Amino acid sequence: ATRYTPIDGDPGLKEAVLDKFARENGLEYAADQVLVSGGAKQSLYNLCIALLGPGDEAVVPAPFWVSYPEMARLADAEPVIVESGIEEGFKMTPEALEAALSPRTKLLFLNSPSNPTGAAYTQKELEDLGAVLETRPDVVIAADEIYEHIYWGDEPFTSFAAACPSLFERTVTVNGVSKAYAMTGWRIGYAAGPKDLIKAMQTVQSQSTSNACSISQAAARAALAGDQSVVAAMTAEYHRRHDWLIDGLNELPGVECRRGEGTFYAFPRVRGVLDRLGMPDSVALAEYLLGEAQVACVPGTAFGAPDYLRISYACSMEELNIALDRIKQALSA
Ligand code: PLP
Repeated sequence: ATRYTPIDGDPGLKEAVLDKFARENGLEYAADQVLVSGGAKQSLYNLCIALLGPGDEAVVPAPFWVSYPEMARLADAEPVIVESGIEEGFKMTPEALEAALSPRTKLLFLNSPSNPTGAAYTQKELEDLGAVLETRPDVVIAADEIYEHIYWGDEPFTSFAAACPSLFERTVTVNGVSKAYAMTGWRIGYAAGPKDLIKAMQTVQSQSTSNACSISQAAARAALAGDQSVVAAMTAEYHRRHDWLIDGLNELPGVECRRGEGTFYAFPRVRGVLDRLGMPDSVALAEYLLGEAQVACVPGTAFGAPDYLRISYACSMEELNIALDRIKQALSA
């Protein structure tokens, strides 16, 4: 599989993607509604370039994945940030969405389960957001469901387009193999949505990078069409680490951590620690932990939430044990 493939993806992989959407999400797409790209990141970037321009706004619920506002800016549009903290379970309310929409809104980013918070919307919450969007026919929804399988919420995972069938025609569902199959380096993601918009995204990709790597596409096809039991086994392990880490973090004075419904990130509020140590924000704390404890965390500032810290638990239990011990020591100094 060393030659160019069609720009939109190898037909065998696209078939596996269509099967996946039908099997796992109850979403029926045609082949010309799917575009395979070099990661979900490129899928989202293609969308921004195809859809957005000067004067347009993209609503970005915070805490957000770092690339959403920057992608909107790269397309000369303006990100409109909607904040929600630990009290709201890190989820945007329908009222907050309503208030953020303007006649210039073209796009809404919706990421569930969320990087960095691990929070996932319930079906009812998606429906309630959908009800607000019903009245705004110009708004496209980018449903980033890349953490779909790293999920342990009380109810089964629901795709935004399945929860809100009346918005199916203007929802672009984004997914990929990076998280579910731990294939981050292979760089395969895909987007499914309205035919015309997918075509425009394909044109952007055609003039920039062409097809995603042919060998990676073959591997992604094997992942999507193969035995899925490995995914549940991996997720059970993430869940175990999640429970252990959240409990450990909540024992630290000045740290409050919400239990997530998925992903492999903890997102504790560390305001109490910042106040106690006289630090202005989580950038200072992340620098302190790196220097004092040799533990690397990402400051919440990067995700639009300066009072928080993101800790990834995509590493071994042994490493996590060492990291938590060192954080404890550094914070009690
Ligand atoms: N969306 C979210 C929320 C992510 O966290 C990531 C990766 O960290 C991506 C998209 C990009 O995934 P990919 O590796 O498929 O480009």
